[in-house]
Amino acid sequence: MEAPLQQLHSPLWEEQGIALWVKREDLLHPTISGNKWRKIKYNLQEAKQLQHDMLLTFGGAYSNHIAAVAAAGQEFGFKTIGILRGEEHLPLNPTLTFATSAGMELHYLSREAYRQKSDPVYLTQLSDQFRNPYIIPEGGTNALAVKGCTEIVADIPIDYDYICCASGTGGTLAGIIAGLEGKRQVVGFPALKGGEFLKEEIEQLIDRYNGHYYDNWQLITDYHFGGYAKVKPELLDFMRSFQQEHQLPLEPVYTGKMFYGLVDLIRKGYFPKGSRIVAVHTGGLQGNAGFQERLGIAL
Ligand SMILES: *Cc1c(COP(=O)(O)O)cnc(C)c1O
Repeated sequence: MEAPLQQLHSPLWEEQGIALWVKREDLLHPTISGNKWRKIKYNLQEAKQLQHDMLLTFGGAYSNHIAAVAAAGQEFGFKTIGILRGEEHLPLNPTLTFATSAGMELHYLSREAYRQKSDPVYLTQLSDQFRNPYIIPEGGTNALAVKGCTEIVADIPIDYDYICCASGTGGTLAGIIAGLEGKRQVVGFPALKGGEFLKEEIEQLIDRYNGHYYDNWQLITDYHFGGYAKVKPELLDFMRSFQQEHQLPLEPVYTGKMFYGLVDLIRKGYFPKGSRIVAVHTGGLQGNAGFQERLGIAL
């Protein structure tokens, strides 16, 4: 399992003396995709150590995290429970078809009830109901996930100035920032609207992980395209041409938005001449099948 660096070539950046590589975390594992593998790895060790035989987690119906936990349970010998936001829709979408085929048992919660997903009283109740599962929060973000994500940067064998990454809960960015220990510049692209809130969230995650505070990072909150999992024609057009030009598969929820933002920032001169940039491909390609089905379009 390797996440190689792929250099991308284009006059757009090469005329500014900028070099760009993609860290292909999407290639780390065939089914436990990208950053979800980094986030889950130490949680699996912890679950084994504490002698749990079941993983329980939360997510939306198209969640990369749900798919990843289902696959990890199957590969590493845990039963898995997925607590899903919203009602059951049959036939199951491609993400949930995959999850159930990997042995995951699905339970549905109303959007209202789902809000209790991190309430300690509710979690104790779930723990009793399912006989002591190892509980992983929505999106997989906890201190062990941050630890796993520090390994993304440990695994980049070149020198560079900037590292870019899409962000949902902020766990992956927290790991990247902590792993760099104040070196280089980190640029995060929140996939949701109002992503400014992530700043505090990420600071807290880092603080809980190693007690440090770093200021070599920023969030670029302008490329959410209307909100989480929302798309616009210009995003889809960009993705199509970028994928074709660079032989790089993208998905619209995270990586499409990050690359759109990154290319736009390059065009606007955000990065100094001569910058060396690494963009992290966090994976998530499993979501494309459901997206295409839902929107009736080809990506
Ligand atoms: C989950 C996910 C993210 C967001 O990761 P966080 O650690 O929650 O910020 C980014 N990209 C992809 C493809 C993902 O599946």
